[in-house]
Amino acid sequence: MLFRSLIAVTFDDGVDPDVTPAVLDVLRKHNVKCTFFVIGEKAQKYPELVKRIFDDGHDIGNHSFYHKGSFPMQTTKAIKEEICCCNNVIKKSVGEECILFRPPFGVTNPMIGKAVRETNMISIGWSIRSLDTIGQDIEKVRQRVACQLNGGDVILLHDNRKDAHILTEMILNDINKKGFKAVSVKQLFNIK
Ligand SMILES: [Zn+2]
Repeated sequence: MLFRSLIAVTFDDGVDPDVTPAVLDVLRKHNVKCTFFVIGEKAQKYPELVKRIFDDGHDIGNHSFYHKGSFPMQTTKAIKEEICCCNNVIKKSVGEECILFRPPFGVTNPMIGKAVRETNMISIGWSIRSLDTIGQDIEKVRQRVACQLNGGDVILLHDNRKDAHILTEMILNDINKKGFKAVSVKQLFNIK
């Protein structure tokens, strides 16, 4: 079998009852596993959606409980509490411990770093920012991602944008056309 370099596809800020299922359908059609960094508050509201992500074989990551603008300004203790709250919600839905964390806005600082270490989470950033949230034409977003694709990349998308499933399909096609293979974060970094 021909070896293909891997690219991880990640979705932040879900779960969203209107968008996440459509994104999952696209991933299923392409037989691709990805990673969803969910917001605890939303995950708590839609546990069956979290379960479906997990049952479809994707990674579920922690993206804080509230995703407030003030998240990075909190004390280590408060950040740890928020991480644990979101982990508990995820565990309740899927029955497994969550180990991946992506801080809101991708911002890190000493308090967040300490909280991540003390909760034994693995912090995951990204290398390709699609800028899919700024309301640009979807074709522009697609091109921005396509011209940056390289093996080992981590792409940041959002499954709370209304055209997320269309963009996902476009990006998966580009990844394939360029000879790469779309995978989840755990697959890319070989995290058990
Ligand atoms: Zn976010």
